[in-house]
Amino acid sequence: MSTLKAVRGTRDLLPPETALWNRIEAVARSVFERYNFGEIRTPVFEDTGLFARGVGEETDIVSKEMYTWEDRARAQSEKSQSLTLRPENTAGVVRAYIEHKLGETGQLQKLYYIGPQFRRERPQKGRYRQFSQIGAEVIGPVSAGSESPVRDAEVLEMLATLLDELGISGWTLKINSVGSASDRPAYIAKLKAALEPVVGQMCEDCQRRAVTNPLRVLDCKVPHDQPFIDALPKIADSLDEASRTHFAAVCAALDAAGVPYERDHRLVRGLDYYTRTTFEFTHGGLGAQNALLGGGRYDGLSEAIGGPKAPGIGFAMGEDRLVLTLQELDAAKAELADAYIAPLGEAQNPAALGLARELRRGGLRIELGDGSFRLKKSFEAADKVARTIVLFGENEAQSGILTVKNFSSGIQSKIARVELAAHLVAARTK
Ligand code: ATP
Ligand code: MG
Repeated sequence: MSTLKAVRGTRDLLPPETALWNRIEAVARSVFERYNFGEIRTPVFEDTGLFARGVGEETDIVSKEMYTWEDRARAQSEKSQSLTLRPENTAGVVRAYIEHKLGETGQLQKLYYIGPQFRRERPQKGRYRQFSQIGAEVIGPVSAGSESPVRDAEVLEMLATLLDELGISGWTLKINSVGSASDRPAYIAKLKAALEPVVGQMCEDCQRRAVTNPLRVLDCKVPHDQPFIDALPKIADSLDEASRTHFAAVCAALDAAGVPYERDHRLVRGLDYYTRTTFEFTHGGLGAQNALLGGGRYDGLSEAIGGPKAPGIGFAMGEDRLVLTLQELDAAKAELADAYIAPLGEAQNPAALGLARELRRGGLRIELGDGSFRLKKSFEAADKVARTIVLFGENEAQSGILTVKNFSSGIQSKIARVELAAHLVAARTK
């Protein structure tokens, strides 16, 4: 019989890597809480129509990447229904906003989520069929200030803080404005006119996009097409007064907060309900899949899925790509245990468990050895999983003075049991 394996594009996450995932999530939660966001958890599958309307039939996601199935009726009274594993989470959050009438509170809703998403894409480094996103949305009635550029700037500043706290250095923030439902049609007309004489020389995808969704031509990555795209009119020159003022206010707030950014005229989203600010954070360490996160304003999304007017702004970060970046930056070292306690002889096992309990309750990360191991074996085991080894024999148990060796410095010292926890905490930064 052939052995069963995890499905293509899915992966098992094992320790020690899962510790990095947990740390990323803990840092994200702590940042979101400081910015006064609350967590939302929506179902992993939804009615297919939600994504068709909320993400858009024209997008790669909906046109070719979704896991969709017909859920059979189980009783005569039930109808069969087309269901889809969520490929992203914004549509689900906005559906929940509408379903629970959160707009009626009159308050801005600031919601974050962490969870798996599913897209049938070609698997490669940084691109999987089940992947995890960490995202947030700020959405609410206009009277609560949901259209204000200060919200855009605050979200971007929060993301800069989050990446910094995660230890991801070297990111780039790119921003643009795609205007609104009122000024974009003029730009699209200009774009179509500019594309007409040249699109025949561009890739097949661009030839199709020039007809179905010309904005998406700006997304094209084919090298041969780049000179044509660089020569196309810029959306910045077609923004109306209100969109220009909005964008200028976002930039001014970022300048004041000291968040560095670059303007990228080609950063667009193809759908009508995406408005004004769009952004992306990239990282050089990721290679071809260099986007850490993407986001923007979606002032028309709620109405597109049957809700009240509820402007919003949000983002989704690829957690898998955060992990890859941190691994590349070698931040995984932090996941070592603070100490490995090596009982010297089996008779010391019970007392060593007592010491481990004391330290663990004090918040330290402890690996407990086994007194049946020879000293050499204990040292080898400890060196793999911990920063220090604590020797615990009969003498140590009686005197309360422990022998501690730090692996990175090579220094061996005698430490009083009452001072051990503080010593181990201090050793974390050495
Ligand atoms: P890409 O251009 O890389 O396909 P996208 O435009 O499809 O990205 P979004 O839908 O904006 O991406 O999703 C936000 C983030 O989620 C991306 O910036 C990326 O970090 C992550 N992401 C998207 N698709 C995948 C995937 N298949 N595997 C892992 N991470 C992903
Ligand atoms: Mg994609």
